[in-house]
Order: sequence, then C-alpha cells, then structure tokens
Amino acid sequence: MTKQVQLFIDGEFIDSTTEQWIPVTNPATQDVIAQAPCTTSEEMARAIASAKQAFQSWKEVPVSERARLMMRFGNLLKEHQTDIAEIICQELGKTLEDAKGDVWRGIEVVEQAANIPSLMMGETVENVARSIDTYSYIQPLGVCAGITPFNFPAMIPLWMFPMAIACGNTFILKPSEQDPMTVNRIAELFAEAGAPKGVLQVVHGAKEQVDTILHHPDIKAISFVGSVNVGQYIYKTGTDNLKRVQAFAGAKNHMVVMPDANKQQVINALVGASVGAAGQRCMAISVAVFVGAAQDWIPEVAEAIGKVHPGVYTDPNAAYGPQISPQAKARVLSLIEQGKKEGATCLVDGSDCQVKDYPKGNWIGPTVFSDVTPEMTIYKEEIFGPVLCTSSVDTLEDAIALVNDSPYGNGTSIFTASGAAARKYQHEIEVGQVGINIPIPVPLPFFSFTGWKGSFYGDQHAYGKQAVRFYTETKTITARWFNDDIPVSGPNMSINL
Ligand code: NAD
Repeated sequence: MTKQVQLFIDGEFIDSTTEQWIPVTNPATQDVIAQAPCTTSEEMARAIASAKQAFQSWKEVPVSERARLMMRFGNLLKEHQTDIAEIICQELGKTLEDAKGDVWRGIEVVEQAANIPSLMMGETVENVARSIDTYSYIQPLGVCAGITPFNFPAMIPLWMFPMAIACGNTFILKPSEQDPMTVNRIAELFAEAGAPKGVLQVVHGAKEQVDTILHHPDIKAISFVGSVNVGQYIYKTGTDNLKRVQAFAGAKNHMVVMPDANKQQVINALVGASVGAAGQRCMAISVAVFVGAAQDWIPEVAEAIGKVHPGVYTDPNAAYGPQISPQAKARVLSLIEQGKKEGATCLVDGSDCQVKDYPKGNWIGPTVFSDVTPEMTIYKEEIFGPVLCTSSVDTLEDAIALVNDSPYGNGTSIFTASGAAARKYQHEIEVGQVGINIPIPVPLPFFSFTGWKGSFYGDQHAYGKQAVRFYTETKTITARWFNDDIPVSGPNMSINL
C-alpha cells in the first residue's frame, strides 16, 4: 500500500481518519509515492484547539528559551539538510543542489528566529510628563496559520512558523498538497529539538482545509504564499473575518540589461535565473529587457540557455528538474504555443523534450522568445516554466517605464557598469526587491522579503523585523509611581498628562 502522509496534531504524528486522499507523485516518473490526507473537520478542530491551549503556556516561556529551541532546531536542520533535500527531490523533482539550497535558505530564517530577544525589544521614554514614563512591550497574538505553495517546500514554511513561534505564538501549517512530505520531516525535527506539544500543528489538504483556517475565530493571523487568484481570495476572506493577513502572490520579474554591462556575466546570470528550478520560482527572471546595443546579445543568450537540459535529480549534469505536474506542464506548453501564435519569435523551443529513461516525466526544455511585446499573453501571464521572454527598448527610461507598467512587483534587476544608471533604476523602479548585477535578489532574513503591487497583499512582509511586527501586538504602558516629592493634585479634567 502507498505510504500515507500523517498529520501532526497535539504533539503526535497520527493517521488521518479521512476517506479523501490526494496522490503525491514523483514528477519525473508519475509514480504515486504517497497519499496526502484531506484533514477532516474534526481533526482540524482538534489541531486548532490544541494550538489554542498550547499558546497559554508557550507565551509564558522566557524569550531566551524560545531562542534556544530555534538554535537546536537550526542545528538539526543543518545535520539533516541532505535528507530533507532528498525528500524534496522525490516529490518536487528539484536537482539535489537546488533542493539543498531550498533547505538552506530556510535554515537562515531559523537562525534569525534564534535572535528573537533583541527583535522583541520595545521602546521606552522616561519623563514623557513630570515623573511619568512610557514604555512598550511586544506580545504574541495567539494561534497563527500558514498556507504554503509547492515550489519551496522547505524554505517557505520556514519563512513562517519559526518567526511566529519564536515570538510566542502557536502555529497551524497547511503545506502544499503536491509535496507534503518535506514539511512532515521538518516538523519531526522541530519536535526532536524540544518543541513543546501543540506549539506547531501540521494539517494536510487543499481548499476545504484552507477555508476552515480562514473562517475559524481562534486563528488570529494568516501567512500565505502562492498564486495570485488564491492570494487575493485569502487576503479578502481572511481580512473579512477580521484576521491579520499577509499574502505573497505571483510575479513577472524583469532583468534590464544595459549595453555597458559585462556580457558574459549577463549571459550566465540569465541562464540560471530564467530556467533554474524549471522556472518554478517566484523570483525567476521571466523577462529580459535589452537596452540599445545590448539587444545584439540576444542570440548568444539564447544559445547559452539552449545548451542546458533538464533531468532527474540523480543526474549531476541536469540543470533543472521537471514541472510539478502534467497539468502544470500542459499549461506551460499552451502558453508557448500562444506566444508563437501571437507573433513572438521562438529562438529556442523546449516544447518537445525527452529525458532518456524517463519518458513519463513532466519535462520542458529551455525556451527563449524574442520580440515579445507587452500585449502578448506570454508577457502578461506568469508562465512558471523554463521560458525566457526577451524584448528590446532604446533607453533606460523606456525600460523603467515598461517595468513600472507591470501589475507585479516582486523582484527585478539591472546589469550595468554605471553607478548612475543603477542609482536611477533602484530609485525609480516600482518593485519591492531590486538586484544590481544580481539576478535574483532574495534578501537574507535580517531584512524582509518585500514584494510590492500585485505580488503582495498586506503590509508587513515575511521574516526580518517586519515578521516580528506581523506576528505580535505592541502594548504601550504609561506609568507614574507616587512618592512624597509628587504633590497630590486635584482631579485632571483635560486630556493632558
Ligand atoms: P497555489 O496558489 O495553487 O497554492 C498555494 C496554496 O494554496 C496551497 O497550499 C494550496 O493547497 C492552497 N490553495 C490552492 N487553491 C486554493 C483555493 N482555491 N482556496 C484556498 N486555498 C487554495 O500556488 P502553487 O501553484 O502551489 O505555487 C505557485 C505560485 O506561488 C506561483 O504563482 C508563484 O509565483 C507563487 N509564489 C510566490 C512567492 C512570493 O513570495 N511572492 C513565493 C513562492 C511562490
């Protein structure tokens, strides 16, 4: 019988009693490697009640002990980085190195969560009025929840629950039903690190389970990462139910190439940033905008991208893996066809891609289009496949106008040797994360992951100081202690202190 993915409720891994199961497949073979449960409503209620109860004691645990839990957890994740990565390889198909990177970028957030004492410092001012002091404390919210996408099954859950739990909250995590096993292994290590019972709960499933989270009165805040339509739905429904919501959504990231840039650096950067991870990254470069004479480099960029090939994770020469599902593959193929029909020039066509010995894998070869214009579907839609669109403009001003017209604002980059051009770009561009000669500028966790516009709904972002604000309330205290030096005054009828 196929392995059944367990739930992690009230400190124990348990078998779900559900009758609805979602097959988890190896995308390189279509073998069903596990079944993920659609958590029943009774199990959801138990998980939320356990998290609510655990909050009462967890919020009283000293901040330094919470930090130490994160240190032990971080060490266990480092020790098991490769075995977690291998689970990612099996259920998502990433290459081993890329899967290890997925775990590593999550470990860095856990390290940041281990710094929680200084991040939770409030503010103080002495003598705000005569003999009166004001100071603030940061306190946790209660039960928080996270809903995560398939494409970073370690990193994105680790963006969420370590920071929330380090702040003193308890957490319900609903990972993607397409690769649910990675999170279970991470939860095992969290328990092994000494996390008290009920502090983290893992439930599996899809829309129905997410809806329970969205409507449950005991859940105070929701972190979501995924596609635009679902992100908008989660933001609207969650806030309608008076919850705090941060929703990270889809993207269309541009790289602007100036003619004074180093050509070889541009080519290398574009190969990795466009088709790496099979293009299934929210910070992938999906549009390269060549300014002026830089457009002469497009054939060489296409040639370099055309040389890489996908493969299984055990093949050390594979540049990237398969698409997550046959449906995802079909969607990317139909967008490639649409690009051709709408008049873009297909310089490299990966539609018909075979990988030896793996005829059933969801393979798409690297694909490059030129002459892409903003009206085309391949320009407007997030393709989420190994497809690079290129277009050409005359000036930096034209490039900035093009990028600023996009409804998305997750990431962008400029390649140039000119400090003045880079400064102008970073200042004028309406995108939340900007790379200068860096193609994928994902900030390390002492900063925050700051997507803008249609790539993010909410105000406080993931990890860094903003995550602490998202997962806490500020309590401000104004205090006076009477002593003999303070004269007894009569009733104060004004609002002045
Ligand atoms: P998805 O939106 O299909 O799924 C994300 C989560 O939402 C999953 O847990 C899923 O079970 C749940 N879900 C799906 N449909 C739902 C519905 N109708 N109602 C309620 N919940 C639902 O996303 P995906 O395909 O797993 O991930 C890819 C997307 O995520 C891409 O668009 C990518 O850009 C985006 N993404 C964004 C970021 C970012 O930081 N902005 C990071 C990674 C991925």
